[in-house]
Amino acid sequence: MATGEISTSGTQTPPQLPHHKVKIKKDGQRACNEKNEKGKFCGGHLKRWFYATDVIEQACGDAEKAWGKNAEVYRCEHCKTLYLPNPGEAVLNVAGQGRISVFGLTLPPKEEKKS
Ligand SMILES: [Zn+2]
Repeated sequence: MATGEISTSGTQTPPQLPHHKVKIKKDGQRACNEKNEKGKFCGGHLKRWFYATDVIEQACGDAEKAWGKNAEVYRCEHCKTLYLPNPGEAVLNVAGQGRISVFGLTLPPKEEKKS
Protein backbone atom coordinates (compact mmCIF):
# COMPACT_ATOMS: atom_id res chain seq x y z
CA MET A 1 0.00 0.00 0.00
CA ALA A 2 1.43 3.34 -0.98
CA THR A 3 0.97 6.26 1.30
CA GLY A 4 -0.09 9.23 -0.72
CA GLU A 5 0.59 11.71 2.00
CA ILE A 6 1.90 15.12 1.18
CA SER A 7 4.99 15.55 3.27
CA THR A 8 5.85 19.18 2.70
CA SER A 9 6.95 20.22 6.13
CA GLY A 10 5.01 22.98 7.83
CA THR A 11 2.17 22.97 5.38
CA GLN A 12 -0.27 20.54 6.89
CA THR A 13 -3.77 21.07 5.68
CA PRO A 14 -6.42 21.01 8.37
CA PRO A 15 -9.92 19.71 7.68
CA GLN A 16 -11.70 22.16 5.41
CA LEU A 17 -15.05 23.69 6.16
CA PRO A 18 -17.79 23.64 3.54
CA HIS A 19 -17.79 27.43 3.16
CA HIS A 20 -14.32 28.41 4.25
CA LYS A 21 -10.79 27.71 3.26
CA VAL A 22 -8.79 26.70 6.31
CA LYS A 23 -5.04 26.77 6.76
CA ILE A 24 -2.57 26.41 9.60
CA LYS A 25 -0.87 29.56 10.76
CA LYS A 26 2.88 29.19 11.10
CA ASP A 27 4.77 30.37 14.15
CA GLY A 28 4.79 34.14 14.17
CA GLN A 29 2.93 34.40 10.90
CA ARG A 30 0.95 37.62 10.63
CA ALA A 31 0.26 37.93 6.96
CA CYS A 32 -1.71 35.73 4.65
CA ASN A 33 0.40 33.56 2.36
CA GLU A 34 -2.47 32.46 0.21
CA LYS A 35 -1.77 32.92 -3.48
CA ASN A 36 -4.26 34.57 -5.71
CA GLU A 37 -5.06 33.46 -9.21
CA LYS A 38 -2.09 35.40 -10.54
CA GLY A 39 0.29 33.53 -8.26
CA LYS A 40 0.94 36.51 -6.00
CA PHE A 41 0.82 36.31 -2.25
CA CYS A 42 -2.24 37.82 -0.72
CA GLY A 43 -0.39 39.47 2.16
CA GLY A 44 -3.52 40.45 4.05
CA HIS A 45 -3.26 40.79 7.80
CA LEU A 46 -4.37 37.88 9.91
CA LYS A 47 -6.70 39.01 12.60
CA ARG A 48 -8.26 37.12 15.44
CA TRP A 49 -11.70 36.18 14.26
CA PHE A 50 -14.47 35.90 16.80
CA TYR A 51 -16.89 33.94 14.73
CA ALA A 52 -19.32 33.56 17.62
CA THR A 53 -20.06 37.27 17.31
CA ASP A 54 -19.90 37.43 13.55
CA VAL A 55 -23.43 37.78 12.24
CA ILE A 56 -22.58 36.43 8.81
CA GLU A 57 -20.82 33.42 10.24
CA GLN A 58 -23.67 32.69 12.59
CA ALA A 59 -25.91 32.33 9.59
CA CYS A 60 -23.39 29.93 8.12
CA GLY A 61 -22.41 28.13 11.30
CA ASP A 62 -19.52 26.13 9.85
CA ALA A 63 -16.86 27.31 12.23
CA GLU A 64 -18.87 26.76 15.36
CA LYS A 65 -19.85 23.28 14.29
CA ALA A 66 -16.26 22.34 13.64
CA TRP A 67 -14.46 24.02 16.52
CA GLY A 68 -17.00 24.92 19.19
CA LYS A 69 -17.81 28.44 20.26
CA ASN A 70 -14.49 29.82 21.35
CA ALA A 71 -11.69 28.37 19.32
CA GLU A 72 -8.71 30.53 18.47
CA VAL A 73 -9.09 31.33 14.81
CA TYR A 74 -7.51 33.99 12.65
CA ARG A 75 -8.85 35.32 9.41
CA CYS A 76 -7.20 37.11 6.56
CA GLU A 77 -8.73 40.56 6.32
CA HIS A 78 -8.31 40.42 2.59
CA CYS A 79 -9.27 37.02 1.19
CA LYS A 80 -11.07 35.69 4.30
CA THR A 81 -9.01 32.53 4.46
CA LEU A 82 -9.16 31.13 7.97
CA TYR A 83 -6.02 30.25 9.90
CA LEU A 84 -5.84 27.92 12.83
CA PRO A 85 -2.97 28.37 15.25
CA ASN A 86 -0.09 25.98 14.83
CA PRO A 87 -0.61 23.11 17.29
CA GLY A 88 3.02 23.49 18.24
CA GLU A 89 2.33 26.98 19.52
CA ALA A 90 -0.56 25.90 21.67
CA VAL A 91 1.63 23.57 23.67
CA LEU A 92 3.61 26.56 24.89
CA ASN A 93 0.48 28.10 26.34
CA VAL A 94 -0.22 25.35 28.81
CA ALA A 95 -0.42 27.23 32.07
CA GLY A 96 -0.12 26.03 35.60
CA GLN A 97 1.65 22.81 34.81
CA GLY A 98 5.25 22.26 35.59
CA ARG A 99 6.39 19.52 33.31
CA ILE A 100 4.62 18.05 30.40
CA SER A 101 5.11 14.34 30.30
CA VAL A 102 6.09 12.65 27.12
CA PHE A 103 3.08 11.73 25.07
CA GLY A 104 2.07 8.13 25.43
CA LEU A 105 4.32 7.50 28.37
CA THR A 106 3.39 7.46 31.98
CA LEU A 107 6.42 8.68 33.79
CA PRO A 108 7.02 7.54 37.34
CA PRO A 109 7.03 10.35 39.88
CA LYS A 110 10.55 11.48 40.54
CA GLU A 111 9.97 13.15 43.85
CA GLU A 112 8.09 12.10 46.89
CA LYS A 113 5.60 14.56 48.24
CA LYS A 114 7.21 16.67 50.89
CA SER A 115 4.94 17.97 53.58
ZN1 LIG B 1 -5.47 36.50 2.30
